[in-house]
Amino acid sequence: MTDKIPATLISGDGIGPEIMASVTTVLDALGAPFVWDHQNAGMGALENQGSALPDATLDSIARTGLVLKGPLTTPVGKGFRSINVTLRQQFDLYANVRPTQTIVPGGRYSNVDLVVIRENVEGLYAAMEHYMRVGDDPEAVAYGAGFNTRAECNRIVRFAFEYAVKNGRKKVTLVHKANILKILSGIFLHEGRRVAAEYEGRIELEERIVDACAMELVIKPENYDVIVTTNLFGDILSDLTAGLVGGLGMAPGANIGEKMAVFEAVHGSAPDIAGKGVANPLALMMAASMMLAHVGRQDLSARLDGGMKQILTTDGIRTRDLGGTATTEDVTQALLRAIH
Ligand code: NAD
Repeated sequence: MTDKIPATLISGDGIGPEIMASVTTVLDALGAPFVWDHQNAGMGALENQGSALPDATLDSIARTGLVLKGPLTTPVGKGFRSINVTLRQQFDLYANVRPTQTIVPGGRYSNVDLVVIRENVEGLYAAMEHYMRVGDDPEAVAYGAGFNTRAECNRIVRFAFEYAVKNGRKKVTLVHKANILKILSGIFLHEGRRVAAEYEGRIELEERIVDACAMELVIKPENYDVIVTTNLFGDILSDLTAGLVGGLGMAPGANIGEKMAVFEAVHGSAPDIAGKGVANPLALMMAASMMLAHVGRQDLSARLDGGMKQILTTDGIRTRDLGGTATTEDVTQALLRAIH
């Protein structure tokens, strides 16, 4: 029996509380080892506690090092940094892991099983940008810069190869744009090749330019296994891969650091359907499954994955985003039956 594991739980904004209630109900029924420290972040926290990322939440995360997080609405307006970007940088959550697998039959692609590993703290997301004045126009030119360090390129590519080894994957594809961004993207490619050489004979190395990769993902996604890439390319490609298997309602993600891990759905707070009880809880459910595997409970993770597969395929329980009519509660109840 695993000991109890303290973890921070942030329900989030919009559909967050609805899908989080579904996930915690199922985790409880599964006997998951987590002891939740409930904390707030996002729009709700800004309204109630005066900060979109209160100190109490940051303290809890620093203490537990393990987080299940619902989507957060980033307040619009100057002076608000994305909370998600802040969390990644503050806790050095350098690897963003987004698995994509075909589960729902009858979709456009029947054979997708790949993982996008995105560098999470450098690249163009450093958002060092400003305007430059030309004549009377103070905003005539928009200027932006990014940076990639050799150390971080090494760390993220090594993470991807280690992930491949641990998860029985065969191939890692380095995705870059070093033909044009010879330095910014070149350092990633060159450092990546050095790391890959250490895995020669065990894990195959492949290289793709990002635009060719985008096209190939649409034409032949089954060619891909593990993709590792820099921040902006990873952001775009991982939404593309989510689209291959049913959209954002089916896309989980993990943000991993040396000592911390934050698990979440890839989607946002979906204000258009919030409060209607129709949100798909499965992306967050899959994130919870990744969290179980992360703490060594592969047994529970496999049971949860099996349950999700069963309700989607055998039982045909699907929310509206997947072309069905099921409510969030229908999914919860079906899953509770399936995991027993
Ligand atoms: P969104 O992902 O919230 O919604 C995009 C579309 O997908 C909407 O039509 C929505 O109804 C649908 N959708 C999303 N999740 C769904 C689910 N689980 N079930 C069914 N349908 C679902 O993107 P957006 O509208 O651009 O962003 C809304 C807010 O969320 C913004 O404030 C944004 O900053 C924030 N956001 C947060 C995160 C995060 O916390 N990780 C990620 C992305 C966006």
